[in-house]
Amino acid sequence: MKWLIVIVVTLVVYTWISRVKNNINLFLENYEIAIIDKEDVEREGRHTDDILQLRPETYDKSIDLRGTPTHLCPCGSNIWSLKVIFEDFEIATYFLDMECVSCGSVATAPTPVDRKEEL
Ligand SMILES: [Zn+2]
Repeated sequence: MKWLIVIVVTLVVYTWISRVKNNINLFLENYEIAIIDKEDVEREGRHTDDILQLRPETYDKSIDLRGTPTHLCPCGSNIWSLKVIFEDFEIATYFLDMECVSCGSVATAPTPVDRKEEL
């Protein structure tokens, strides 16, 4: 009698494990698992379309590049924050000091006059 109980319990456990295994396989066939830690979530949060979030995480690597007008920051970014004045729905004036949105370096904004000097 004791052996019969052991055999029945073994069959029940085996059946249960088989069902769990089948469900796991079904799950893995239909879904992808992404392991995301807290840093990934925070990093991902910085890649929003919100322009106000477009700023450097830290200014540790920022440098003062002011003097020579430039389009591109040494960090590789070509997006700058600068102050502008609008007139008649267009940018009428902009300040020459600008800040890289990626690393925080400050540089001099290019102007049409600088283009003539290059030619
Ligand atoms: Zn930069």
